[in-house]
Amino acid sequence: MTWGLIAAALITGWLSYRHPWWRRPLGYQHPRILMYHMVPAESDHGRPRGLAVPAHRFDRQVAYLRRSGWHFATVSELLEGPILPKTVAITFDDGYADNLTSALPVLLRHKAKATVYLIADRQSPLSEGGLPDGAPLAELLSDDQVKELLDSGVVELGSHTSSHVNLANADPARCQRELIESKHTLERLFQRDVIAFAYPFGATNDSLADLAEQAGYRSAVTTQAGVPEDLDAQRFRLKRIRISGRDNMITFRIRLRIGRRR
Ligand SMILES: [Zn+2]
Repeated sequence: MTWGLIAAALITGWLSYRHPWWRRPLGYQHPRILMYHMVPAESDHGRPRGLAVPAHRFDRQVAYLRRSGWHFATVSELLEGPILPKTVAITFDDGYADNLTSALPVLLRHKAKATVYLIADRQSPLSEGGLPDGAPLAELLSDDQVKELLDSGVVELGSHTSSHVNLANADPARCQRELIESKHTLERLFQRDVIAFAYPFGATNDSLADLAEQAGYRSAVTTQAGVPEDLDAQRFRLKRIRISGRDNMITFRIRLRIGRRR
């Protein structure tokens, strides 16, 4: 009996540490920026992985956001303001083909929006940094697929550099080139202003934030976990909430509420 109680207490303690439902919710005047990468369709998802949120889970998450009164905005709409309390921006890094085939139908179904940060040179070998999780190039969006995504009217196009290089390890001239050339390439190809940027691997520092601003961007997102509490001051160091393929609806709601994973 006593051992049973001790075991129950230990399990409860461990679960509360893993899923900190008890943390103070962060005020809903602060918008949430959610970070996704791949959204594989039902047919090709194996075990859910960190960067791959199966389409059916993504659907449940966006449905939940819609049902519980969240307002959807692109990242640039957040920065333009003013925004309503309970505003959420969905973001996708790298530009995987399943963002069109699996995520877009979900966005349209729930009248949601998203910002997709695209690697400008998607044909060239990504030798330097590579893609997270060893994703093959074939999984990236083609130009025609990007156009289709943008024609939906619910997706903002952002840049994720030309070659997915880790900018924190590159010299300033290379950083400048990656920031400016990717912006121009994407603008020329897709005939839209590109004013939103995402640092590959989330790697940033003060001088990179300055370079992003000088390149003509109006915001830049990191992979640092959290919620931007001062959008204007933090516009080139925006924190995001990473949604993992392993998150269930309970953990998803906790992340949304407290603005971080732990
Ligand atoms: Zn990336």
